[in-house]
Amino acid sequence: MQLSETARTADLLDRATLVLNRSWRPVHVTTVRRALCMVFRDSARIVEPESLATYSFAEWIEFPPPLGAPAIRSPSLRVAAPEVVLLRRYDRVPSHEAPFTRRNLFLRDDFTCQYCGVRSGGDRLSVDHILPRSRGGNTSWENCVLACVSCNARKADRTLKEAGLRLLRPPVRPRWSPYLTLRPSQRMESWQRFAPEHRRRSGAR
Ligand SMILES: [Zn+2]
Repeated sequence: MQLSETARTADLLDRATLVLNRSWRPVHVTTVRRALCMVFRDSARIVEPESLATYSFAEWIEFPPPLGAPAIRSPSLRVAAPEVVLLRRYDRVPSHEAPFTRRNLFLRDDFTCQYCGVRSGGDRLSVDHILPRSRGGNTSWENCVLACVSCNARKADRTLKEAGLRLLRPPVRPRWSPYLTLRPSQRMESWQRFAPEHRRRSGAR
């Protein structure tokens, strides 16, 4: 597939696309570029998130986006960027444990100090041990949260109670999910429907 690389098309091609396995479970997030290649090779179908209708590449290009709407352009085609694709051939079952890493902790806490709620790009946030390491606290999902410089300084080597601090949210171990690899601003609204906690209610297969 040859696609012209206007700046806008390039942006769209790098946008995130949710990949569902054959049981409609989210397994992965890829780029629009790779998703379209998968559909073009017939290893996936494009899912229209509202109707849950699925489209082959040939079917999809029959429904170009309205003029003026974002589109991927080639000399002869205007194609809408898929938001969700469904794999056709194999089932990959995602692991249920999110690895405890610094990056994943930033994503779980959404780059937000869990004491005062201030958001930051990352350089002003650090990992705080709720029960300090000096008191036997371990480095785990349940004992670590992001804290800004001033909350970290205020808490120092004290427990929550001693420091008079409260957490905004319980520091839970997140279930692994493709969403965890992206910042909330990179996620598409239409993916909500396929999030595990929504599946039962929405009736999506
Ligand atoms: Zn803070």
